[in-house]
Amino acid sequence: MSLFRPRSERPMNCMQVGRRLQRYLDGEVDDLTARRILRHLEDCRRCGLEVVAYTAIKASLARRDDVPSDVLVRLRQFAEQLLREGPPPEEDAAGGTAGT
Ligand SMILES: [Zn+2]
Repeated sequence: MSLFRPRSERPMNCMQVGRRLQRYLDGEVDDLTARRILRHLEDCRRCGLEVVAYTAIKASLARRDDVPSDVLVRLRQFAEQLLREGPPPEEDAAGGTAGT
């Protein structure tokens, strides 16, 4: 089974980005994948937020400090706020019906 889709030119979904996000932050993905993820992050708040959260957690782990619960709470609140303000990115913007 082989799909002849040009993977390089296809934008990633949030799911696809999410699956590769940790590898991406660890620098374990190809340049191509990194580019696609970057492109998605530029447009998608939700995934961009995940990067912020991962980065914060990784940074604190790298310092070998305990992650302060305050920080985690703040990140969560920040996430919820972004999710409320931004449209749900689950469906792609293919439809033309836009209401206020
Ligand atoms: Zn996304």
